[in-house]
Amino acid sequence: MAATVTLLPGDGIGPEIVNATVRIIEAAGAEFEWDPQLAGMSAVEERLGPLPDETVESIERNKLALKGPLTTPIGEGFRSINVALRKHFDLYANVRPARSLTRGGRYENIDIVVIRENTEGLYVGVEHYIGMDQDPRAAAESVMIVTRFGSQRIARYAFDYAVAHGRKKVTLVHKANILKYTQGLFLDVGQEIAAEYKGRIEFEDRIVDNTAMQLVLDPYQFDVIVTENMFGDILSDEVSGLIGGLGLAPGANIGKELAIFEAVHGSALDIAGQGIANPTAVILAACMLLEHVGQDEVAGRVRGALTRALNSDTRTRDLGGDASTSEFADKVIGEFV
Ligand code: NAD
Repeated sequence: MAATVTLLPGDGIGPEIVNATVRIIEAAGAEFEWDPQLAGMSAVEERLGPLPDETVESIERNKLALKGPLTTPIGEGFRSINVALRKHFDLYANVRPARSLTRGGRYENIDIVVIRENTEGLYVGVEHYIGMDQDPRAAAESVMIVTRFGSQRIARYAFDYAVAHGRKKVTLVHKANILKYTQGLFLDVGQEIAAEYKGRIEFEDRIVDNTAMQLVLDPYQFDVIVTENMFGDILSDEVSGLIGGLGLAPGANIGKELAIFEAVHGSALDIAGQGIANPTAVILAACMLLEHVGQDEVAGRVRGALTRALNSDTRTRDLGGDASTSEFADKVIGEFV
């Protein structure tokens, strides 16, 4: 029986790239029933609020979602719906693979997976203003929360991922030199878990600032990176830059029973509605979804056709071409053999 998947087209370029993706994976033989729902600005525009109950219930029911990016107002307005979804469904592992698929990136043959803790750290959103004298915003405070439980399960996820995917090394990235309690706990727990995999998976730890520089100098020294929430957010964008940009980087948000697949990038409001966005990141996210439910053969077909299309003259603008989103999608479909 075909799996039912909640489909969130999202905001900005979301509907353009999600529609292209659905067209491609259906042409490749994906067996999914789609359950389309709204979230983010598109839901607000329908006067439903940024995260309608119906959307939450749909994801709860289907346990799988393919999601376009959602816009988050900066500095004011509702909190990130992306973060809310990850917290609500306890999607603790954010898996962000970056693999070179085409020339045009800074490097060739990059193959790095960032595994980011998705539910703790500074992104728990425990923050407030402190008023002084006449200024209600004289200071602001955010709390970083790290738990043994959260650190254990993300470290274990990273090592299990490395074993399952034939990876050799896990690098734990932290800032324990300065944040001795929160980051210290994350590092200590990671080292304990690493000991269980000794002899099978190599382990090292690095400070985040050094990691950011080393990624630019010599990215080939990295294999699987496991890190806390905010560092993972930043480093995964950096890693996507190594392979040619955000348009090429997919992500999966994985929980115990439920998973949401999406691009690393956002709603790209600067190019929304122009039909020029690169759909590759969402197509790759859909491949992760296909593999997650055992439709590996279809995923392989899509990955093959996508790689051929990316290396043809039909490329979107971010990759130096002039193809529209739908022309690129047609090209991918034309590459199925
Ligand atoms: P962004 O990732 O949307 O865009 C950054 C730059 O990359 C822009 O110049 C954009 O045009 C380009 N870009 C991104 N995706 C592209 C694609 N597929 N093809 C071609 N070019 C692409 O980051 P931003 O502009 O900082 O964020 C816009 C909104 O998206 C914000 O509201 C932010 O909160 C939200 N956001 C959502 C998610 C998510 O839904 N998971 C992730 C990141 C940001």
